[in-house]
Amino acid sequence: MNFFKETDVVVIGGGVTGAAILRELSKYDLKCLLVEKEPDLSLGTTKANSAILHAGFDAPTGSKKALTNVRGNAMYHEIQEDLDLDIKWCGSMVAATTDEEAETLKELLARGTENGVPGLKILSKEEVLKEEPNLTSVIAALWAPTAGVCWPFGAAIAFAECALQNGAEIVRDCAVTGFVKEDGKIVGVQTDKGAISAKYVINAAGVYADEIAKLAGDDSFTIKPRKGEYILFDKTACTDLVYGIIFPTPTKTSKGILVCTTTHGNTFIGPNAKDVTSKEDTSITSEGMNEIVNSARKLIPNLPMGQAITGFAGLRAVSSTGDFIIGASEVEGLYNAAGIQSPGLTAAPAIAEDIVNEIVAKAGFAKKTNFNGKLPKTAKFTHMTESEKEAKIKENDLYGRVICRCETITEGEIVAAIKAPCGARTVDGVKRRTRAGMGRCQAGFCGPRVTQIIARELGIDVTEVLKEEQGSEMFFHKLGAEGDK
Ligand SMILES: Cc1cc2nc3c(=O)[nH]c(=O)nc-3n(C[C@H](O)[C@H](O)[C@H](O)COP(=O)(O)OP(=O)(O)OC[C@H]3O[C@@H](n4cnc5c(N)ncnc54)[C@H](O)[C@@H]3O)c2cc1C
Repeated sequence: MNFFKETDVVVIGGGVTGAAILRELSKYDLKCLLVEKEPDLSLGTTKANSAILHAGFDAPTGSKKALTNVRGNAMYHEIQEDLDLDIKWCGSMVAATTDEEAETLKELLARGTENGVPGLKILSKEEVLKEEPNLTSVIAALWAPTAGVCWPFGAAIAFAECALQNGAEIVRDCAVTGFVKEDGKIVGVQTDKGAISAKYVINAAGVYADEIAKLAGDDSFTIKPRKGEYILFDKTACTDLVYGIIFPTPTKTSKGILVCTTTHGNTFIGPNAKDVTSKEDTSITSEGMNEIVNSARKLIPNLPMGQAITGFAGLRAVSSTGDFIIGASEVEGLYNAAGIQSPGLTAAPAIAEDIVNEIVAKAGFAKKTNFNGKLPKTAKFTHMTESEKEAKIKENDLYGRVICRCETITEGEIVAAIKAPCGARTVDGVKRRTRAGMGRCQAGFCGPRVTQIIARELGIDVTEVLKEEQGSEMFFHKLGAEGDK
């Protein structure tokens, strides 16, 4: 068998789980590589979720979800500075609007305390209104001070960048199509780019994790997609709508439709929960939008619906076991990080630690002495003082050209995002790294300019630049080119 890459460990899937695992692996003396089928990381569930670093009172005590949630939350507090992560530690409230719901808050408090969540307490109506004056219909709330809201794609990319700076490799546009086995043991993966050797393979393929496991001979679980839709508001419309994270009292299938203000000041509402048949169905529906609005209005009656700028949807990877599936499969050499639905974003660093510890205990890989866990800080033009801006423009005049007018993102920041070790290659890749295109016009103005910058920096033609996945070219051909005459 000819292998185009030789490794010790292959990670399948470049969402937050796979990226966190790659970083954890890069702390050890081994060759590790992540394969992602899409042109960029974070295009699966990591792209569309509530972005909340949950405190950890939701999941049943003792479940993998609960254990990794509480540990993962604490780990984000520790690594935020080193990885330059964009996180607002605003705390969360579960809001009760009826006496029955107020009773449920006591159950959540008891479960959270058993799960080891620090600082939980029930707030009275007056205490709630002091923090969130628009929650007029709320009679009590469960306060969780350790919760926060993060920039989820930024977290995945930061994990990946950290892994790369410690010797890991990432191959994008590379789909795993099978496994290479010898005497029933995995010795590599087959991809659409060729075979890669590996002693251990970690399956972090999101909603496709059951199909990947099956390819290796493990059919012990299935994953069903459950869609959640959202509406995002322009930030000028919601400066004082809600400060932090407001959940309704949860139901059996979902934490409910929440209202939250992101790290960048946009309020969003969602998600609903709808089982779907396709693992690619991230469409938004008018029924879904109505459901979200009607539900969110119970918490915030005065939602600025005229200021909604976009809708989006993500797919939860609901496992047949009801819990996260983390660890060795029955197939030798395969390890699953599967069924990672919410709170998977929060749990990612803890899941990574658990799965890598299990492999290290078996394989005996030694810890590196020179692991560098600190990423260089990214220059964010809007956060700079006037004199810092002047100095930055003097150093590099591309910081003097604003490309995204809604979010004030400069050409300097876009070029830096393209040139980074896990650099952006698509228009939405630039958006997720810099926020160019995230504003009110949703890339209507800056999209074509970002396309030109990507083409120039990557040395490709503008007709080759993708918006997101393969087949999403920004331009089909140039006017005036042969055939237009
Ligand atoms: C509506 C919603 C709300 C949520 N809210 C929260 C929240 O507030 N807080 C929280 O903690 N969690 C939340 N979650 C959960 C969280 O988003 C997920 O747990 C997390 O993003 C899962 O990451 P992942 O890396 O496991 O999967 P993904 O992000 O889906 O990544 C899997 C990757 O595998 C790749 N892949 C698949 N097949 C192949 C193949 N054959 N070859 C190569 N690559 C492949 C995919 O392209 C994808 O990039 C929410 C989820 C949803 C849907």
